Amino acid sequence: MSIRQQEAPRLDPRKFQDPEVTLKGEPRAKVALGALRTLWFNTGTLCNIACAHCYIESSPRNDALAYLTLDEVRRFLDEARGQPLEEVGFTGGEPFMNPELVPMLEEVLARGLRVLVLTNAMQPLRRHRAALRALLDRHGPERLILRVSLDHHDAAAHDLERGAGSFARTLEGMRWLAREGFTLHVAGRAGFGQAGEAAMRAGYAALFAAHGIAVDAADPVALMLFPEMDAGRDVPEITTACWGILGKSPQSVMCASSRMVVRRKGAPRAAVLACTLLAYDPRFELGATLAEAARPVALNHPHCARFCVLGGAACSR
Ligand code: SF4
Ligand code: SF4
Repeated sequence: MSIRQQEAPRLDPRKFQDPEVTLKGEPRAKVALGALRTLWFNTGTLCNIACAHCYIESSPRNDALAYLTLDEVRRFLDEARGQPLEEVGFTGGEPFMNPELVPMLEEVLARGLRVLVLTNAMQPLRRHRAALRALLDRHGPERLILRVSLDHHDAAAHDLERGAGSFARTLEGMRWLAREGFTLHVAGRAGFGQAGEAAMRAGYAALFAAHGIAVDAADPVALMLFPEMDAGRDVPEITTACWGILGKSPQSVMCASSRMVVRRKGAPRAAVLACTLLAYDPRFELGATLAEAARPVALNHPHCARFCVLGGAACSR
């Protein structure tokens, strides 16, 4: 725990409970699904490593979210026909642990959609290099984006989070992706270390330049710096009045334009969640189909406030 976290006031557990009203009795903000533009698939929570602050608690043993299958992905893509879907995201765990990931990517690309894969670019991806290279040859780099998690531009800081040697292995994976001509994006952490955002971006820029990695560190999409996620730290609840006060539209929040499909271990079928950030909170499980999951989402989780409304994080493009 950082000094900043120790000093931060803790969240009153009575907050974020009622989907209709806040603790003060004010109407809670809700977000309607405008148009489904991004569909996420969680391919399963298994990961080759176990990072200290993994928001979904992935590890080589956590299979709370089971491997999705190609047939399930097809079923949801079929259901999304006719919607203005632009992008299909794959997250985990480490998506390349799922033995059907590459056929899933092929399925999405063949339908003319853009693919975004979140990966640590380590050993699981390495095993699929030939197949990935073949996908690139068939479909080109514009619609095939790999976003690699590199928590910090400094090897020691990154390895503190992800284990000794992780930085070197991920960097080697990034260099391969860049050399082969994939569209490569990077995800870092804005609050990791005490440096400000400008210093973090400068550090990443120097690293990319030193290794011939063509990522523009000044571009907030190409290098996405995510705020820290601490659900126990105090944060204001979001009311219907907040949008006007903040000058922010509900349509700018991820759950206004996306959903995520998961399959819980032992569950007979996949389920659709409001977003990628709340995989284990049953209040954000909206149904078994995209149609069922098209209902409004009440923002009654601290992440809704800190990460989406106040933090300004964009989890997609
Ligand atoms: S690599 Fe990603 S999914 Fe795996 S443990 Fe680390 S943060 Fe979690
Ligand atoms: S954390 Fe809350 S506000 Fe953000 S996308 Fe998920 S449900 Fe919506």
